Amino acid sequence: MNSSEVFLQKIAGSDATARAGDIDRLHELCICNSCLTYNECMREKGELLFCIRGRSPSCTFEKKGCTCPTCPVTKLAGLSRTYFCIRGSKQEQRSTAQGL
Ligand code: SF4
Ligand code: SF4
Repeated sequence: MNSSEVFLQKIAGSDATARAGDIDRLHELCICNSCLTYNECMREKGELLFCIRGRSPSCTFEKKGCTCPTCPVTKLAGLSRTYFCIRGSKQEQRSTAQGL
């Protein structure tokens, strides 16, 4: 299990209150709203933390770059991918690759 999977499993395995606190803290660290790809649709819906919450459910995008590699959550969670808002969380990307 890599560091990203350990991190995500720790969040998933904690009780609901601790999990909500962890998610809130990560939400505050997310820098998506400074990214050129982040658009009005996402801003209106307050969507952030796509790497954990998953891809945007209803907004459409034009790729204009991704600031995820410079986000503190990338380091904390051991992430290596980009464009989570479009491609989905690591689990979503894995499920898509496996045809689930
Ligand atoms: S890695 Fe990307 S999606 Fe995840 S919190 Fe950071 S900026 Fe947001
Ligand atoms: S996931 Fe990446 S591309 Fe999408 S809004 Fe966040 S920083 Fe920008």
